[in-house]
Amino acid sequence: MNEIKNRICVYQGNIVKLGTDAIVNAANTSLLGGGGVDGAIHAAAGPELLEECRGLHGCRVGQAKLTKGYRLPAPYIIHTVGPIWQGGGQQEAELLASCYRSSMEIAAEKRLSSIAFPAISTGVYGYPRQEAARIAIHTVAEALQQHSGIKKVYLVAWDKETALLYQSLLEQL
Ligand code: ADP
Repeated sequence: MNEIKNRICVYQGNIVKLGTDAIVNAANTSLLGGGGVDGAIHAAAGPELLEECRGLHGCRVGQAKLTKGYRLPAPYIIHTVGPIWQGGGQQEAELLASCYRSSMEIAAEKRLSSIAFPAISTGVYGYPRQEAARIAIHTVAEALQQHSGIKKVYLVAWDKETALLYQSLLEQL
């Protein structure tokens, strides 16, 4: 597990600043832009991103789609759609894990070596932070075992609370 641990890092700040091979967007099913991290990514990438997204015809919850990064430092964006928290009985955990897994699969297929994730579903979609962080760490760790070409995964926290959660869960791996 030590080797896996060393391939995961926690970063607190704005995901649009990261120059990883891909950053992940917590999008909605339309893929046509929204608030939160989605709004920040579209604003930083520029209008060409929306143009490309229009051609993708949306994305299902738990799945992911790739675009270019345009004006971002990251050359690619992987757009994934997290579940809206509805109390936990609507397969939210499975769907959230699927977002991380699908994004890692796309990164591996594209032979990308670094990827950065926001805390999917924990903003407007209301997923409890602790449970979402646990799913993020465990799913990423499992996917790293399968995809040896992915050398670094950044778990990006906007707030201090999430950064500390990630850090302590990572230490427990
Ligand atoms: P969702 O609809 O999936 O809940 P949000 O964008 O509302 O998506 O929030 C997802 C997470 O991303 C939240 O934890 C939020 O604090 C965080 N976030 C918002 N803006 C940024 C940003 N620019 N960089 C990194 N994380 C961000």
